[in-house]
Amino acid sequence: MLIIFDVDDTLVDSKKLIKAREDAHITNIAIYHNINNNEAAQLLNKTKLENKLLGKFSTLDAMLKLGFTRDEYNAIMNGVPIDGNVVLFDGVQETLEQLAKRYTLVTLSSTPSAPSRKTLEYTNIINYFKALYCPDTHNFTKPSLEIYRKILADFRISTGYSIGDSFEKDLAPAKEVGLTTVLFSKKQEPRADYLISHFSELIRICQ
Ligand SMILES: [Mg+2]
Repeated sequence: MLIIFDVDDTLVDSKKLIKAREDAHITNIAIYHNINNNEAAQLLNKTKLENKLLGKFSTLDAMLKLGFTRDEYNAIMNGVPIDGNVVLFDGVQETLEQLAKRYTLVTLSSTPSAPSRKTLEYTNIINYFKALYCPDTHNFTKPSLEIYRKILADFRISTGYSIGDSFEKDLAPAKEVGLTTVLFSKKQEPRADYLISHFSELIRICQ
């Protein structure tokens, strides 16, 4: 069986990192569109809202719409330091240790491969994962049905779980390909198969 994990705000508390990345995107939008940072922040927000109505939930999609290329997005993301900006959530290390003995674990993140790898190395959990699926190595934007199909095909597995903090990005497409979905969140979400607020609850769910 396969378990697919989102990284930011699922395995690690990424509040500081996400804020730093947003600031980096805003700075770049300001330069590219020749506007000030406040205007750039508003433009990014407006673009994200417009995208949501189209079923697009990634910052990557917003940046593409604002004229950036995938390579430019990757360069901005790669430029934000990981060290000091992420903390492993309580219970993650012990839970992964248990699950990795029985199941194939992979990550699926909107973060490019270099910072994804760095996050997992910095928090000492990289060895639990058989593969890292990232937009620069596998050319997807969350939510994507194709990337879930590709992961299942790569491991020749048809059953498993998808764990994430966003129903739209991490769970909705996983559900469509037949995976059991687990939302790591304090918010209620009836569409998720399971809702957890502490990581160790996964041991009981993934049987
Ligand atoms: Mg996340």
